[in-house]
Amino acid sequence: MLSQIGRYDHVTRLPNRLQFLEQFEPLAMSPVPNMLVLVTLADARHYNEILRALGMAFADDFVRAGAKLLGSLLPPQTRLFQVSVLSFAAAVPADNAADTPLVASVIAAAFAGAIEVNAIPIKTHVGVGLVPIELERGGAESLRAALVAAQDSRRTESGVAFYNHQSDAAHLRAFKILADLPQAIRSADQLQLHYQPRIDLRTGGCHGAEALIRWIHPELGAISPAEFIPLAEQTALIGPLTEWVMLRAMTENRRLLDAGYDLRVSINASPVNLSEHGFDDMLLHHCEAAGLQPHHIELEFTEGTLATNSARTIQQLARLRAAGIVVALDDFGSGYSNLSYLSRIPADVLKIDQSFVRPLTATGDDDFLLRHIVSIARGLGFRVCAEGIETAYAFDHLRALGCDEGQGYFMARPMPAAALGQWLDGRS
Ligand code: C2E
Ligand code: MG
Ligand code: MG
Repeated sequence: MLSQIGRYDHVTRLPNRLQFLEQFEPLAMSPVPNMLVLVTLADARHYNEILRALGMAFADDFVRAGAKLLGSLLPPQTRLFQVSVLSFAAAVPADNAADTPLVASVIAAAFAGAIEVNAIPIKTHVGVGLVPIELERGGAESLRAALVAAQDSRRTESGVAFYNHQSDAAHLRAFKILADLPQAIRSADQLQLHYQPRIDLRTGGCHGAEALIRWIHPELGAISPAEFIPLAEQTALIGPLTEWVMLRAMTENRRLLDAGYDLRVSINASPVNLSEHGFDDMLLHHCEAAGLQPHHIELEFTEGTLATNSARTIQQLARLRAAGIVVALDDFGSGYSNLSYLSRIPADVLKIDQSFVRPLTATGDDDFLLRHIVSIARGLGFRVCAEGIETAYAFDHLRALGCDEGQGYFMARPMPAAALGQWLDGRS
């Protein structure tokens, strides 16, 4: 009896993961090809909702009801294992590796909608994942692959998904990026800032540059900020990352000022940063410590920022602005542009998203939205900056529309701080 402890799930009494792993090898060596089907009853959020609303005993009943229904759908003699609190696995015959085994479709159909638990219909968010059982993959890796497939299945029409190496590779890459980011922030040479000049469209002068982060990963090579910033935003790493950018941008700007270039540096902040208490103090503190005046710094934020914690965000932006930091709304028009807030946001500059600017290449190109955005923004008292100017035509046209400033490959690409000094020298 004692030897059985730890080998069965205490809620359903089904054999657990340990037993699955022990039996994996014989299963994989069976003369008929087998497919591993993994069923997850709910995702963590849904399970927590059940726990919160109905309690732990009911949540156990939910798992038992799921296990019972699942058992009734499997071919006779099939052994069902419970491999985690909400996941079950079984080996089913694979007649043809390319076809979904019938039983997987039957399971997805039976769990679609709701299952009855203590006479209450409870909505399920079941995932059904499939992976061929192969000796080389091993038991633990097969479970992981099937779980990936079960998660993918929530986005499929049929409710069933095969393990997909590509989708898994993307997840593994995201995981590696996040795991390696703390070391990159600590190391001296993996992260860098490049600066893209901001040009006054009337005079052609350059009085500012936007700091854009670059990461050269020791194994993966250059990783775009468009890939790693959104990942960092899902974690607490976005705090130290933005602080790193801030410190580096301020130090490099101080050096450029000392060398005689009168520049304002624009720093991109994430929605999470601005929703965190004390961000304004930190920025002002670093600004002073670097020996900069507040007007030497511009803070760029995006529309999404206002959705995160709008009260605190607006308060912090207003405070920074009152202290003399220039505030810019980035990527305007790319989100769900709620025009009613435009008159209330504490910003000085509105940066028009590239998607309105880049299509502009020749006379006659549709500029209806662009024209009116510039007009509304100027009417509300913002200075307007267009992003993504790639052609002489776009440059001239935006100037004619009354746009104040611009950035884009036509004028200059982002470049390291030292190159920015040379670029400015070349223009004077
Ligand atoms: P963003 O803030 O809107 O920055 C402008 C992006 O457009 C930059 O891409 C820039 O290299 C690119 N760009 C500029 N001119 C042109 C052009 O004429 N044509 C085209 N096709 N692209 C142009 P990058 O550096 O890859 O950055 C992408 C995004 O990543 C940024 O968009 C920003 O949202 C984010 N990002 C970059 N650095 C940071 C950072 O330090 N902190 C945070 N929170 N986000 C950052
Ligand atoms: Mg920006
Ligand atoms: Mg932008």
